[in-house]
Amino acid sequence: MTWIGRLAPSPTGVLHLGNARSFLLAWLDARQAQGQLLLRIEDLDGPRNKPGAVEATLEDLRWLGLDWDGLVHLQSERHSRHREVLLQLLEQTDVYPCICTRKDVEQAASAPHAGEEGPLYPGTCRERFAPGLAGLTEAESEGGRKPFLRFRVRPGVVQVQDSFCGARDFDVFQTLGDFPIWRREDEAAYHLAVVVDDHDQGVNRVVRGDDLLSSAARQIQLHQALGWALPSYAHVPLVLGEDGKRLAKRHGDTSLREFRRQGVSAEQVLAWIGQSCGLPVAKHQGNLEKLRELWTWEHLPSAPVIWRERLD
Ligand code: GLU
Repeated sequence: MTWIGRLAPSPTGVLHLGNARSFLLAWLDARQAQGQLLLRIEDLDGPRNKPGAVEATLEDLRWLGLDWDGLVHLQSERHSRHREVLLQLLEQTDVYPCICTRKDVEQAASAPHAGEEGPLYPGTCRERFAPGLAGLTEAESEGGRKPFLRFRVRPGVVQVQDSFCGARDFDVFQTLGDFPIWRREDEAAYHLAVVVDDHDQGVNRVVRGDDLLSSAARQIQLHQALGWALPSYAHVPLVLGEDGKRLAKRHGDTSLREFRRQGVSAEQVLAWIGQSCGLPVAKHQGNLEKLRELWTWEHLPSAPVIWRERLD
């Protein structure tokens, strides 16, 4: 079987060291397995997209030397297909309309905040509306707030079989709750778009940051509801600041763009990433071909990488 992996950047900003490392790992995984690697720009969530970010992302990937197979896929061009799958889920009554605002959820939530993901959705609209098309008609005819749609999570533990992290259990129902799959702005929300596109594009291998591990559990429920085969997953550790938090502005500008402006070469960035992946690469001498020859998953440390504000 041929591995078909993907790079799936969101054009919400420029590439930084953290995304670059995850993308390089996805690239190494696909290229070493003689697989294919697709490039899919996840340009839904309109208001967060930055003008020019698609071009900037392509330029950054090319600068690093990462290539991909075939044309660039844009998620925004797949609206009608996303809608078709949504209809199927509505017909299967796996989905219900929700009119709750963020504030409603915060006020109603009895559970404490679930990490970065905000409070667990208490299921107010699961009770308020019937599932499926009947509920949607009901919500729309009430003439109040425009509804969005949530997936009715199934109770029980979902196990993510991750080729790097091992088997990880998530009780999606108890800890993550029913999640949005269609936005008020009439477009697919992240989980639905990823699942439909991975399936339709033949993606059978997903390598991405481990902040998305719990998302895999949700996405598995969607794959199952649709009767689709699961991809193989490998979630890789993130690059964190010295305070142990995700890279952010306060950790300095780690965008490839900024490195380039400072005269840093792609080889230097690749060397830093290669070393952080446990590969014996000489400083400043990262070379993609060499990294590909050296790469094996056994080298990759399972701890997050700490960015110490310098590339060497
Ligand atoms: N577009 C997502 C991101 O940039 C990645 C989604 C995925 O790999 O499933 O965070």
